[in-house]
Amino acid sequence: MNSLDSEHLMSELKTHKDYIQTDNISDADLIIINTCSVREKPVQKLFSELGSLNKVKKEGAKIGVCGCTASHLGKDIIKRAPYVDFVLGARNVSKIKDIVDIKGAVEVDLDYDESTYSFASNGHSIYKTSANISIGCDKECTYCIVPFTRGDEVSIPLELLVSQIQKSVESGVVEVMLLGQNVNNYGKRFSDGSTKSSFTHLLKEISKIDGLQRIRFTSPHPLHMDDEFIEEFATNPKICKSIHMPLQSGSTKVLKEMKRGYTKEWFLNRALKIKDLVPDVRISTDIIVGFPTESHEDFLDTMDVIEKVRFDQIFNFKYSPRPNTAALSLESIVSDEEASKRLEEVITLHKIHQEELLHQNIGKTMKVLFEELKPNSEISGFSDNYIQVYVKGSEELLGKILDVKITGATRTVLKGEII
Ligand code: SF4
Repeated sequence: MNSLDSEHLMSELKTHKDYIQTDNISDADLIIINTCSVREKPVQKLFSELGSLNKVKKEGAKIGVCGCTASHLGKDIIKRAPYVDFVLGARNVSKIKDIVDIKGAVEVDLDYDESTYSFASNGHSIYKTSANISIGCDKECTYCIVPFTRGDEVSIPLELLVSQIQKSVESGVVEVMLLGQNVNNYGKRFSDGSTKSSFTHLLKEISKIDGLQRIRFTSPHPLHMDDEFIEEFATNPKICKSIHMPLQSGSTKVLKEMKRGYTKEWFLNRALKIKDLVPDVRISTDIIVGFPTESHEDFLDTMDVIEKVRFDQIFNFKYSPRPNTAALSLESIVSDEEASKRLEEVITLHKIHQEELLHQNIGKTMKVLFEELKPNSEISGFSDNYIQVYVKGSEELLGKILDVKITGATRTVLKGEII
């Protein structure tokens, strides 16, 4: 979502303020850091990064801080780094053109509603585009700062989404990524009076767009993975067969303390149903180890789910205490050393699964959308189920979806030949 926000910032500045992008920081008239605040480390890095940028920027160049840390720290950023020209929250992206010239501007309104705003056209790829289908989040996961930086959940009207994606397809795009904190909670609240809808309905409508060949989405919430959604995912040929299922913990007790709204059994039931209906599906997940109340038995439940689902990719983290969140007040029973040990165990088990799963693709034929030239006369792209595949080839393959016979695998990518 931050990448898409960055693209929106750039396209708004290009369209309304004539800015162009430079790769050379000392040429820049404007430098923007688009921040994350999900964990503590990026927040700490912000101020050292700002200090370095202030030293290398050309005279008179402006510096802006945008994104979730901007929402969270607001005017304190300028107090701490007075050379920062403006601060723009993650919920206020469309205001960039209005505040870029105002020294000291701070726009971090959490109630600001830009769900019906048509951003200037964005995109670094001519074959793929992304679209926010909702903004904000209504959940209250006890470890998460996002509801305090992105505000309440509002869905983007369906007609606006379809026309925006349609326009991209007319200019050559074949794949769309639908984005939201909880994409499959789509349609519960609109600010333009649209009647309630659902994510499954949205998927059906978007897949009617002629010329659009692939639909991806992230992140769905395991709680909202009802049968109707899973069946649409399994049977709609335009929906790519890779899915992110953020587990966070495999312990029902910890999931309750995290306020995730589902149990270990529900998660396993959903994941195994998807695997059953879509044998080639690729499932990724997020895991937090060392949540303050996580006992050794709770951690073993997480390992049990990993063993049963055999995720293709795991984004794993040690619990990071965040301001404003409910978990901040919990006294931790997990030492940092123990949390590191648990993280290591997750990584080790996952590496075994990852390698086995990847190697199972050797000999199969996959459809690959070619996107990027690589050294040694190679070109890479992604399969329908989101595995990076390398073949020998050159630019005439860019943007094409072709059948590839898989001939080999490294730890993270596949090698193949076009057939
Ligand atoms: S669903 Fe939970 S983890 Fe995801 S953004 Fe919302 S509060 Fe955070």
